Amino acid sequence: MDFFRHKLRLLAALLVCSVILSGESQAKKLNVMTATTDLAALAQEVGGDKIDVESIAKGYQDPHFVEAKPSFLLKLRRADLLVVVGLDLEIGWLPPLITQSGNPKIQPASVGYLDASQFAEILEKPSGPVSRAMGDVHPLGNPHYWLDPENGRRVAKGIANKLAEMDPADAAYFQQRDQDFEKRLGDAEKNWDNQMKPYRGRKVVTYHKSWPNFAKHFGLDVVGYIEPRPGIPPTPSHTIELIQQMKRDNVKVIMVEPYFDLKTPNSIASGTGGRVVVMLPSVGGEKDVTDYFKLFDYDIALLKKAFDETK
Ligand SMILES: [Zn+2]
Repeated sequence: MDFFRHKLRLLAALLVCSVILSGESQAKKLNVMTATTDLAALAQEVGGDKIDVESIAKGYQDPHFVEAKPSFLLKLRRADLLVVVGLDLEIGWLPPLITQSGNPKIQPASVGYLDASQFAEILEKPSGPVSRAMGDVHPLGNPHYWLDPENGRRVAKGIANKLAEMDPADAAYFQQRDQDFEKRLGDAEKNWDNQMKPYRGRKVVTYHKSWPNFAKHFGLDVVGYIEPRPGIPPTPSHTIELIQQMKRDNVKVIMVEPYFDLKTPNSIASGTGGRVVVMLPSVGGEKDVTDYFKLFDYDIALLKKAFDETK
């Protein structure tokens, strides 16, 4: 009897220990901040309940021009890891936040600073010397790389590896989550590719150069942009040229990011018999688009409809 009582006591002690330990491991959740919602969505996929993650930019904001709210300073001060898009996408708003946070862990070159562009295929890399002269906001190559599922896969793996490095006790958990994400992404990708197959080679115009990776993946031909250069608002002369080009090439679909004024796109559409499609470049651009999968679901459905209606 004493033996059993002893065993029970032992069990109870173990239980208390495990409760304390699990409480501790909960408190030990990695605190992850990301520049954009897409990176937050990918981090959430691989980080699961071992991380807390929040994006600074909202999904409906232009990621080049985010208002740097001081409330994010406190959050950045507490962060273990900061994941950024890189390629100067955030140069107009993030560097002062990082500096002012006073958090040594997330300063560039520190272990808690992760530039996700290193994992992705980058298009439109400049061949000559780089400068932001003329206001081009893509001086280091196109920073909208997350819009190719292959890059989403690579970035997720890069984040999973970083989480494993920072929290080795949960390394297997992050790797497992990453494998599971890859599998679900592979299945979704087959479906997206099939849906887009009939439209391969279709010509489109976009407002900003947000879509080269998306276009490459799905075989679309982007023949012009409403912005004369990335980050430069439309001019009357450029708009007239674009309308002439669209008529010549019979381009009917105009893809516009949700944060741009629709006045110029609408006038181009009426001048060409075209259709304006407000496509989301980021998770959270609409409230139902809550993860990386729903982003492609949403955009592909809209695009198919626009192609079908403008044959
Ligand atoms: Zn851009």
